[in-house]
Amino acid sequence: MKAGWETVIGLEIHSQLATRSKIFSGASTAYGAEPNTQACLVDLGYPGVLPVLNEEVVHMATMFGLAVDATVAPRSVFARKNYFYPDLPKGYQISQFELPIVEHGELYINDADGRKKRIGITRAHLEEDAGKSIHEGLDQNSGIDLNRAGTPLLEIVSEPDLSSAKEAVAYMRKIHTIVRYLGISDGNMQEGSFRCDANVSVRPVGQKELGTRTEIKNLNSFRFVERAINFEIERQIERLEDGGEVVQETRLYDSDKDETRPMRSKEEANDYRYFPDPDLLPVEISAEYIESVRQQLPELPAAKQQRFVDEYGLKLDDADLLTGSRTLADFFETAAAATGAKKQLVANWVIGDLSGALNRDGLDIADSKVSATELAGLLTRIHDNTISGKIAKQVFEAMWDGEGTADAVIEAKGLKQITDSSAIEAVVDEVIAANPGQVAEYKAGKDKLIGFFVGQVMQATKGQANPGQVNQILKDKLGS
Ligand code: ADP
Ligand code: MG
Repeated sequence: MKAGWETVIGLEIHSQLATRSKIFSGASTAYGAEPNTQACLVDLGYPGVLPVLNEEVVHMATMFGLAVDATVAPRSVFARKNYFYPDLPKGYQISQFELPIVEHGELYINDADGRKKRIGITRAHLEEDAGKSIHEGLDQNSGIDLNRAGTPLLEIVSEPDLSSAKEAVAYMRKIHTIVRYLGISDGNMQEGSFRCDANVSVRPVGQKELGTRTEIKNLNSFRFVERAINFEIERQIERLEDGGEVVQETRLYDSDKDETRPMRSKEEANDYRYFPDPDLLPVEISAEYIESVRQQLPELPAAKQQRFVDEYGLKLDDADLLTGSRTLADFFETAAAATGAKKQLVANWVIGDLSGALNRDGLDIADSKVSATELAGLLTRIHDNTISGKIAKQVFEAMWDGEGTADAVIEAKGLKQITDSSAIEAVVDEVIAANPGQVAEYKAGKDKLIGFFVGQVMQATKGQANPGQVNQILKDKLGS
């Protein structure tokens, strides 16, 4: 970023809650049905029907509130947010305004210098989603699909505490991890179950007041969040440096052009005339209820990360990666429990070769072709010196291709490490005899050549000689 400027960002994250039915009706929330087959009279806003709150969303919002150390309000109120749009047949969205269910939370991210940074969570409130306009395959017409109308959302609003696109992404990832740990959202970004609006402003370094912000709507991938914010920062700085002004407005990110541009200003002039929804009672939550939810919370990512450091001696960054999802963390723990190998070695393999293979094949950890116990079997063979780490990579690939367990592959391919000193000595003798020139140079003081000799021995033994022994025997024979 340009010197002399600093960035301020606040995110409004919309996380779809994973209930089976909608927030105020019994219609299904399943994704991908034929248009308008999952919208009932309540979702369609027919007169004479009444919304009934789905108790599950209260439970989910409470879990979230506790997970981010927030206050869960003993009393919160649903309000009508009035506006007209074709995908909103009632003419208002039921949301929460003055009294949201969750307030004053926080979480920690790592900033650019690797230091912990607190990000405040202003509030999280419950609301219903709207329908969707459809343009594809309808010639010149637009269609409206109301299946999504009434789907429960938790809108999570951050304080303007984020200072770069990277921090915004780190924060959004933390929230994403938390909602999936809690099982309150599937977090599926392609399907729009997890998306955000990014509020961005810039100001000269040292200025106290916040600059004028713009709001980039509906970002549904981490990459788009980062790119859209970075584009917006550059655009605002350029304007200000040219003596212009930033206009407070809503903008859309175009991923094809990698730029943001203003939305039609008609949608801008909003006066929502919020008022408490007379059809819904306030939500009242007792202290006992909150306590019982607290008792049922799973171990959360931050706590798990710390435990991985304390219990397994992992590096903080690795613990962070491994606790990115519960399935990944469980995979690591199952593997770690099944082998005497160093736990950091287990971590390296899960983060390195295993994740690499999963990425390559586009697989989720749950569908890994090598199970946690199978991986443990391989690492045990490194640990007990049956194979070297290098040969292990070859064994792993064979396991991934379905050629059996580590032991089966080592046996079938004859990959056992050569630890028999006389066998290694024989090869070392051959290498020394075949390279008199290098031997002379080495003896004359060119120590670096030891690498050359080790390489030759490894090549002759197809990488199977024990590297430690090779080094020792070479040094003995070359006389250093
Ligand atoms: P609104 O409801 O009109 O969108 P809010 O005041 O509730 O406005 O703020 C929404 C989000 O914008 C919050 O995440 C907040 O932190 C962020 N925000 C507010 N002012 C600024 C600013 N000047 N620069 C960047 N972000 C801001
Ligand atoms: Mg907003």
